[in-house]
Amino acid sequence: MVAVNKWFGAFHALRDIDLTVANGEKIVICGPSGSGKSTLIRCVNRLETHQGGKIFVEGKELTSDLRRVERIRRDVGMVFQHFNLFPHLTILENCVLAPVRVLKLAPEKARSIALHYLSKVHIPEQADKYPGQLSGGQQQRVAIARALCMNPKIMLFDEPTSSLDPEMVKEVLDVMAELAREGMTMICVTHEMGFARRAADRIIFMDAGAIVEVSRPAEFFDAPKHQRTRRFLDKIL
Ligand code: ATP
Ligand code: MG
Repeated sequence: MVAVNKWFGAFHALRDIDLTVANGEKIVICGPSGSGKSTLIRCVNRLETHQGGKIFVEGKELTSDLRRVERIRRDVGMVFQHFNLFPHLTILENCVLAPVRVLKLAPEKARSIALHYLSKVHIPEQADKYPGQLSGGQQQRVAIARALCMNPKIMLFDEPTSSLDPEMVKEVLDVMAELAREGMTMICVTHEMGFARRAADRIIFMDAGAIVEVSRPAEFFDAPKHQRTRRFLDKIL
């Protein structure tokens, strides 16, 4: 993204955001509540529209052209804080829905892909249950599997563990770390600093709609460049 700006009415939510994420790169975004983290990643698949600057995904510019937005969304998987599974569909049905509807895969093919990814997130045995029958950590792993079924080139995570009970955080972070090791391009909004240290190539600290600091993990934690980053880390570590 180049010089991206966004306003909600008069409120300036993103200020001159410049960020290029390389193929296979893992980015962690952190920062105080209201700093624009969600808004930033939601602009990447146009759940929010930006008003200034340009955003390119896989070389294609995001514009108001809806066909192009749809095409770009296929390349971008997203996992939210609240799992956003369809409660009336089974786990397997949740996973095959978009591949069949959007990618036009044959149902049998979509099922076998879904079972593959459910195994990858370590819950193949839950395929025929409904979301309400699973723990939060399991539901979030389904949400990850469901996104992977679309064969995305980029995965966006918006605080995927922050509504989970502490004992379930690790099982979700482990799946994310595995994905990272396999070379997925990932942009993760998270305050899980252990994960950031282990998995991130670069950590971004945002405040008041702007990117304040971009650093490698070692530098970010041990020698942050900015006072504001330091104050933030003092609060959360
Ligand atoms: P949190 O850590 O609480 O999730 P965040 O960094 O993700 O915060 P955003 O959700 O991106 O913050 O919000 C950035 C700012 O934009 C906030 O001040 C928020 O109130 C405002 N904002 C977000 N969405 C809207 C909206 N749809 N309409 C108006 N203001 C909004
Ligand atoms: Mg947010």
